Amino acid sequence: MHNVVIIGSGPAGLTAAVYTARANLSPLMIEGSQAGGQLTLTTDVENFPGFPQGIMGPQLIQDMRAQAERFGTAFQTADVTKVDLSRRPFAVTINDEETIQARSLIISTGASANLLGLDSESRLLGHGVSTCATCDGFFFRGQPIVVIGGGDSAMEEATFLTKFASQVTIIHRRDKLRASKIMQDKAMKNDKITFRWNSMVEEVLGDDVVTGLRLRDAVTGDTATLDCKGVFVAIGHTPNTQLFTGQIDTDANGYIQTSHGTATNVPGVFAAGDVQDPHYRQAITAAGTGCMAAMDAERFLEAEG
Ligand code: NAP
Repeated sequence: MHNVVIIGSGPAGLTAAVYTARANLSPLMIEGSQAGGQLTLTTDVENFPGFPQGIMGPQLIQDMRAQAERFGTAFQTADVTKVDLSRRPFAVTINDEETIQARSLIISTGASANLLGLDSESRLLGHGVSTCATCDGFFFRGQPIVVIGGGDSAMEEATFLTKFASQVTIIHRRDKLRASKIMQDKAMKNDKITFRWNSMVEEVLGDDVVTGLRLRDAVTGDTATLDCKGVFVAIGHTPNTQLFTGQIDTDANGYIQTSHGTATNVPGVFAAGDVQDPHYRQAITAAGTGCMAAMDAERFLEAEG
């Protein structure tokens, strides 16, 4: 029987681990077979306070993990394959083999940025391909950038990126945007933004860093190359909540709903980080809600005696 089981090992989960471990709750973290979350897919992180020279994403995660371990967090490098939240203690099944029991649960399974699914895209992720303008826009000062997508995220990221880029091209697979009118107007009025309609990305070009894209016109079938240094993929995110479907309240897009801090609709289950945050999606906000979840879980356990 564990006081606190934390599912997911990005900045939200690891911060929850530091706090619950220091509260003597002996947390168990199930870190997943791909531990560390989205930060492990990035290179330089320059906006996490406390690192004036920046820090590499994987290093930041490694340091957070060491800090959580130092205070007594136990780690299991495995996937949670099933949870039963219908009664307490909660049952958490690991790798379909072992079922453990938890008095409280912190869900910090994150969200995954949707990708186009090209080999060249995953190869150059963190080397010119990015899924976060706030995180990486700064690295492309004075350079031509491409944003892929036609929704609000694409408009928002493109508008934000004009602060740094020499030119931003929005590439959309149709000739009509999905974004809200107000976001469309903002992007269309921006002199630095141009649109390339009916365009599909066939390949991200470049050996070690991005040098351009090969595009195919969805109507004519013609191919063309476009030079650019940065490619921001903004085609939506998917919260990693499949495990909890039907057991916990989510919004229409699958994000876990929280209230009064990090409480979910199931007493004793708390959610932190991107899994409950469709808006901010930053390492620092994830860490902040991880701290909140730890304190919420501690208070819950105290009240339960
Ligand atoms: P979204 O609304 O689902 O839009 C995704 C866009 O990516 C669509 O234009 C879609 O094209 C395109 N796309 C999807 N898969 C693709 C693929 N494989 N190849 C090429 N293009 C692809 O996602 P989002 O923009 O991230 O927004 C998610 C939610 O957050 C929305 O409800 C949005 O309103 C909200 N949001 C709000 C704000 C704000 O108000 N400030 C900012 C960001 C997000 P199609 O159009 O052809 O399907």
